[in-house]
Amino acid sequence: MDTITKNLLAFIEKSPTCFHAAETMKTKLAENGFTELKENEKWKITKGGQYFVTRNDSSLIAFTIPAGEMKGMRIMASHSDSPCFKVKENPEIETEGHYVKLNVEKYGGMICAPWFDRPLSIAGRVIVREPETGKLRSVLVNIDRDLLMIPSLAIHMNREVNDGYKYNVQKDMLPLYGDAASKDSFMKLIAGAAGVPEENIMGHDIFLYNRQKGCTWGASEEFLSCSRLDDLQCAFASLEGFLAGEKKHYMAVHCVLDNEEVGSGTKQGAASTFLYDTVTRVHEVMGYSREDYLIHLADSFMVSADNGHAVHPNYTDKTDPVNRPYLNEGIVIKFNANQKYCTDGVSAAIFRNICQKAGVPFQTFVNRSDMAGGSTLGNISNTKVALNTVDIGLPQLAMHSPYETAGVRDTEYLIKAAKVLFA
Ligand code: ZN
Repeated sequence: MDTITKNLLAFIEKSPTCFHAAETMKTKLAENGFTELKENEKWKITKGGQYFVTRNDSSLIAFTIPAGEMKGMRIMASHSDSPCFKVKENPEIETEGHYVKLNVEKYGGMICAPWFDRPLSIAGRVIVREPETGKLRSVLVNIDRDLLMIPSLAIHMNREVNDGYKYNVQKDMLPLYGDAASKDSFMKLIAGAAGVPEENIMGHDIFLYNRQKGCTWGASEEFLSCSRLDDLQCAFASLEGFLAGEKKHYMAVHCVLDNEEVGSGTKQGAASTFLYDTVTRVHEVMGYSREDYLIHLADSFMVSADNGHAVHPNYTDKTDPVNRPYLNEGIVIKFNANQKYCTDGVSAAIFRNICQKAGVPFQTFVNRSDMAGGSTLGNISNTKVALNTVDIGLPQLAMHSPYETAGVRDTEYLIKAAKVLFA
């Protein structure tokens, strides 16, 4: 396995939820000399400095300030969340005095079938009350072992299962947690992972995740499969390119936002003021005027990086007749006339230029004209921070499965393009 793929899979394994993804990036940024800023404290920012700030512990913006005159901003945005199942309040459901299963609901639009018959576990954050001070504190938890399973119904009890099945999340998707002896132990287990007694847990945002580790495969190991490639593959590439890039004349911004999978309309999502607040606050703290900010904005460029669909070998008719991305053949530039993707002639030209400078291949994606596509964060973010933006992504298969597939060579292409963008 090449080093980039190895590091990508390690990054994803350390990031079972959006909270862990933010934490993984924070650790990497701190190791690289970045200073953490808090939204509820005064910021001290100096020329040549490098900083990061988080909101809700699930969205992160890292940025660097040029040592000389600032000419504008270079932003790469991706998302930290992936479709999964969220554990509800009062999660345990006892079944006939013999089983305990967990009550869950959907987060985002996942493919349900591949969640069955594979080891799952739980990760997320809990809000605990400190016994001494009574203060509330957020603690990350990850039950790092095979803990849960959603068993399929035997084919003998549903002979038509292979003719298509409509999943009812409340009935079909509840994971089995234990036998009768496990009753009332689930929240104790979570509390134990947080290092506090159960009664000190005041709130939680905990999710199921797939335990299967990432791997490379194929005739020449040219493919990789892993959970959450959408969009941690882009978040990883953005961070690597951001750290390696020269970042001389522009404010470089690595931005990873939560809640893309549920429409971005939260306090920490792309529709929020997080990016706007951060970049305007930097300008204010550095003594720039409102007009300086607007001049910088007009000379700025954003890459909205969210994975795209490669041509599927078994469903080749699902892709546009001409614009047909394949795995390992480069970064996908996404177009949509109705501006679900922000790419236009200008931003496509700028990004093609970046790819050519970086020496990396690019491909184009447009939905079939008779199929509605997905959405992403670029156009939503543009309603708050309006600047020239291109929507791109890495080509992948099985988007929103808990085990997605991509090409081993494409990650490096995006790292190289990000380096050129930030330079
Ligand atoms: Zn995505």
